[in-house]
Amino acid sequence: MAVTLISCFPRPLLFHLHHGSYCKKAGQCQCSKSIVRVVERHPSTGIGSQRARVLSAPAVVTLLPGERREGLHEAITELAEIQNAVRWGWIRVVPSAKPDSKPESRASRRGSKKSVQAH
Ligand SMILES: [Zn+2]
Repeated sequence: MAVTLISCFPRPLLFHLHHGSYCKKAGQCQCSKSIVRVVERHPSTGIGSQRARVLSAPAVVTLLPGERREGLHEAITELAEIQNAVRWGWIRVVPSAKPDSKPESRASRRGSKKSVQAH
């Protein structure tokens, strides 16, 4: 089920979609991946060498004052940041008006294939 976040707070709010507590429950990773060059020193020789490492950063939802953000995965309601913001009256969470669009789009694609086969 998709949910809508409504900001009741007079300033912008930022919520981090942590990988462990959001992506895994939502079933898809929203994190951004960055390749960074780091210098690692060999433990016995002390000689440094550059290596590329992939680091991931959690996605962020920014809510502006009074903004309604629709279509968010319900896993967002399990984040501590969201639960605290609801408890403090900063945001409201309501079910999204429009249903999850994925099953509809699949059904319409199947429908168009059938009509092509019929011709
Ligand atoms: Zn992730």
